[in-house]
Amino acid sequence: DRIDAPFAFDNSYARLPEQFFTRQAPSQAAEPWLIKLNEALAEELGLDIEARKRDGAAIFSGNLIPDGADPLAMAYAGHQFGSFVPLLGDGRAILLGEVIDRNGQRRDIQLKGAGQTAYSRRGDGRAALGPVLREYIVSEAMYALGVPATRALAAVSTGQPVYRETILPGAVFTRVAASHIRVGTFQFFAARGDTDGVRALADYVIDRHYPELKDRDHPYLALYEAVCERQAALIARWLQVGFIHGVMNTDNMTISGETIDFGPCAFMDEYHPGKVFSSIDQGGRYAYANQPGIGQWNLARLGETLLPLFDADAEKGLELANAVIQQYGERFQIHWLRGMREKIGLATVEDGDLELIQSLLAAMQASQADFTLAFRRLSDAAVAGDGEALFLSTFREPDGAREWLGRWRDRLARDDGRTEEVRRAAMRAVNPAFIPRNHRIEQAISAAVEDADFSLFEALLAVLAKPYDDQPDFAFYMEPPKPDERVLQTFCGT
Ligand code: AMP
Ligand code: MG
Ligand code: MG
Repeated sequence: DRIDAPFAFDNSYARLPEQFFTRQAPSQAAEPWLIKLNEALAEELGLDIEARKRDGAAIFSGNLIPDGADPLAMAYAGHQFGSFVPLLGDGRAILLGEVIDRNGQRRDIQLKGAGQTAYSRRGDGRAALGPVLREYIVSEAMYALGVPATRALAAVSTGQPVYRETILPGAVFTRVAASHIRVGTFQFFAARGDTDGVRALADYVIDRHYPELKDRDHPYLALYEAVCERQAALIARWLQVGFIHGVMNTDNMTISGETIDFGPCAFMDEYHPGKVFSSIDQGGRYAYANQPGIGQWNLARLGETLLPLFDADAEKGLELANAVIQQYGERFQIHWLRGMREKIGLATVEDGDLELIQSLLAAMQASQADFTLAFRRLSDAAVAGDGEALFLSTFREPDGAREWLGRWRDRLARDDGRTEEVRRAAMRAVNPAFIPRNHRIEQAISAAVEDADFSLFEALLAVLAKPYDDQPDFAFYMEPPKPDERVLQTFCGT
C-alpha cells in the first residue's frame, strides 16, 4: 500500500550505482501502535503533524509506504572490535528516503526494525521495544545537550513478539540522520577493490556534507581532513558530557560527524576514565577515555580507503594522509581543552589550565564524584559563598577538592572581568543538570515493557529536553542511582 505524499522525498542515495544498496520494502507489522511522534522534529521536516498522528502507526511501522519513498538497505562493511567484516549493511534498517528540511538540510528517514533485508545474515531484522525507547531517549538527550546526533522521529510498537533470550515486545524506530554513510561504507568498496565506488561515494559525500570542498585543489584530502575535524570535535563533546558510546566500530562512525548507534551506550555517573558499560566490551576497547584514540584508529581506516583518490602518486598520498591523521590528536586536544576550560568557567588561556583541569578530574576519580553533578555544582560555586559546600559534598573525601577550589579561585582572579553571576550562567550553560542516567532509562523501559506504561518514558523525555535548566520539580532526575538502582552493564540494542 502507498499513501499520498506526507514527505517531500528526494532520494539521492537511490540514484547511486546499484552496488551501493539493495532495494527492500519494509515487512508488515501485525498491530502497529504509535508510541511517540517527535512533533518538533516532524515540524522541522515539514510534516503535517495532525495527519501523521492519525496515520503514523502505519507509516512508521512500515505498513504504509508513503508516496515518493524508495525503500532500500544500504551496503557497508566495518571493523567490529578491531576485526574486519567485509559485508555488514543495514540488516534491520530500511531507508525510506530523504527530505530537505525547513533549514534546507537533506535528512535521511530510516525505519529501524522493519524486517529483514539482503544484509540480515542470521538476524530477524526486528527490534525490541526496550532498545527502541533507549535510542529514542538517548539520541534526543544528546541533541538537547548540543551534541551532534541522529534524531528520533517516531517509535511504534508492532504488536508482535521478537525472540531474543526471552520473548520481548517488538517495535520500530524511525531515525533521522544527516546521512547514514559511515566509515564502513567506504570500507565496503575499498575491500572489493572498487575504486570507482570509493570515488562515487566520496563525490557524493562532498556534495551532500562538505560542498565547500568541491573547488579545493585536493578535494579528497580536504574531505578526509574535514571528517577528522568533525569527529575530533564530536568525541571531545562526548567526553565533556560523560558519554560512552560503547561500540565504536567503524560501521558506527558517521561521515557527517553525528553520533550514531545508541546500543550499549551509557552516561557515566561517578567519574572514571576506564569506565565501560557494554556487556560485550570485555577488553575495555571502547572505555570512556579510549574513545579519542579509537576515533583516530577508525579514521586511519577511512584514510586507507581513500588512498587511491589522493591526487599525487601513491607514496605522496600516503604521506599526506599520514599528516592528516597525525594532526587528529592535536585537533581533538584543542576541542577538548576549549570545552573543559568552559566547564570550569575560564574565558582566557593560561599554560597551567590543562594541569588544573586534570587535577580536578583526578580528585573526582579518587573520590568517586558524580561527573555531571560535580560540574553543575562547580558552576554554582562560581558565585562566592554559593554552592561550595554542595560541590564538596559530591566528593567522598573532600580534602583534594577543597584544595583544588583554592587554586581554581586564584586562577579565576586572573581570568577576564566577568562578574561572578555572568560566569555562573556561562558555566551552567555548558554543565548540564540532567543527563539520561542509566537507572532512569531502565526504569522507563521496565514500566513500558512490563506494564505498557509510557509515563516514565514521557516524563524522562520532557526533563531531558532542557538539560541545562534548573527544573526544581524534577530535581530527583539529577540524582545518581542509589546502590540498588545502579546499572552495571548495557547491551547491544538487538
Ligand atoms: P550494530 O552492532 O548495531 O552496529 O549492528 C551490527 C550489524 O548487525 C549491522 O549490520 C546490523 O544491521 C546488524 N544487525 C543487528 N541486529 C540485527 C537484527 N536483529 N537483524 C538483522 N541484522 C541485525
Ligand atoms: Mg550499528
Ligand atoms: Mg546498533
